[in-house]
Amino acid sequence: MLNDKLKTQASCADDFDSEAITVTEARQRILSRITPVLATEKSTLYTSLNRVLAQDVISAINVPGHTNSAMDGYALSADDLPQTAPNQYSVIGTAYAGRPFEGQCRAGQCIRIMTGAAMPAGTDTVVMQEHVEKTSETEIRITPGHKKYQNVRQAGEDIGKDSIVLRQGHTIQAADLGVMASIGIGEITVYRRPRIAFFSTGDELRPVGDTLGTGDIYDSNRYSLHGMLSQLNVETIDLGIVKDNLEDLQKAFRSASSEADLVITTGGVSVGEADYVKQIVEEMGEIHFWKIAMKPGRPITFGQLGNAAYFGLPGNPVSVMTTFYQFALPAIQRLSGQADRTPLTIEVICTSDLRKRAGRFECQRGILSYNKSGQLTVCATGKQGSGILTSMSRANCLILLDDECDGIEAGDSVTVQPFSTFL
Ligand code: AMP
Ligand code: MG
Repeated sequence: MLNDKLKTQASCADDFDSEAITVTEARQRILSRITPVLATEKSTLYTSLNRVLAQDVISAINVPGHTNSAMDGYALSADDLPQTAPNQYSVIGTAYAGRPFEGQCRAGQCIRIMTGAAMPAGTDTVVMQEHVEKTSETEIRITPGHKKYQNVRQAGEDIGKDSIVLRQGHTIQAADLGVMASIGIGEITVYRRPRIAFFSTGDELRPVGDTLGTGDIYDSNRYSLHGMLSQLNVETIDLGIVKDNLEDLQKAFRSASSEADLVITTGGVSVGEADYVKQIVEEMGEIHFWKIAMKPGRPITFGQLGNAAYFGLPGNPVSVMTTFYQFALPAIQRLSGQADRTPLTIEVICTSDLRKRAGRFECQRGILSYNKSGQLTVCATGKQGSGILTSMSRANCLILLDDECDGIEAGDSVTVQPFSTFL
């Protein structure tokens, strides 16, 4: 039904392509073709941030290693806590973090204890120093109302001996470095970073620093790509600008695919253009598909060049970024050996009207913010053309509008993907 309407109505037919596949299908096809980099290397904790674990990390010890105090205070036995009237205790020694009290605590006694100090024999409960009354140099008074085992951290309550702390495929975060240090691990096995080669194609492109002639533009895509890639766990190879001619392109593709695990190019994949990119990839390798029902970014190529996977992203600067996030990013994550994860999206109220036609997926650029009543809302960044790159720099999220959606009215709920969740 929808397809018939789209084919016959001129306004819709402009954007409709019966050969186009859906975004979900495209993503599935891409992921099924990506083989993770299996090579591994050793990495010390200092160099492991954002790397992907090629092993499970198992703890040989309990953390904490001994039951210890969570507070500065006085340790005693729970059986000896005052029940109905205040009790008097003699302070028979002090336990410091790293300097335990070696003696035994008996009824009517307590031990001065510092945060992190091992619980002395005969104690299992800590009363905070603010909750006791010091009656002499060696005596304190405690009133009723304390709970058994309070203010005590049990041995192994964070990490149990022999437990798996982090799994293979996990991307190492700041906290993980601390966790691994806490179990005494200073070196781990990680996957080699994927190598990603990229270049821009187009006769009109000039590098930053050149003077522009009539019809020339600066090559901005390589910088957006460099920025997006630099935030990931990858090595990059920037091959510059390549002119739209068979020889230069062949040379660039040959060198890119011999050096990299993934090649990304921008431009030269539009219908009607000198079709070199498609031709070369077909000659040198294989194209898996060609068109995706998505705006911006419909003409995109995914394929294989020798051992390297290949993305031919559109030339339009916004399309480069949206297609990168929708397709290249999950592919790079798979390539890196990362365990699959569902991208984090949230449902929020949209405060703008959004124009959209049914029949394709759209990524509009949005700004997430809190309104006066503290509710998280999103508004569009304004003009949404695929050449309006400032719409990306003003945005902090993508508004994801699925194929069936035929427009949004202010007040409707929409799905957004915050940029911060891309990493
Ligand atoms: P193409 O896909 O090569 O037809 O390019 C589509 C549009 O994107 C054209 O207006 C190009 O001039 C523009 N474009 C292509 N590559 C780049 C680039 N590297 N930087 C900025 N704009 C580009
Ligand atoms: Mg071009």
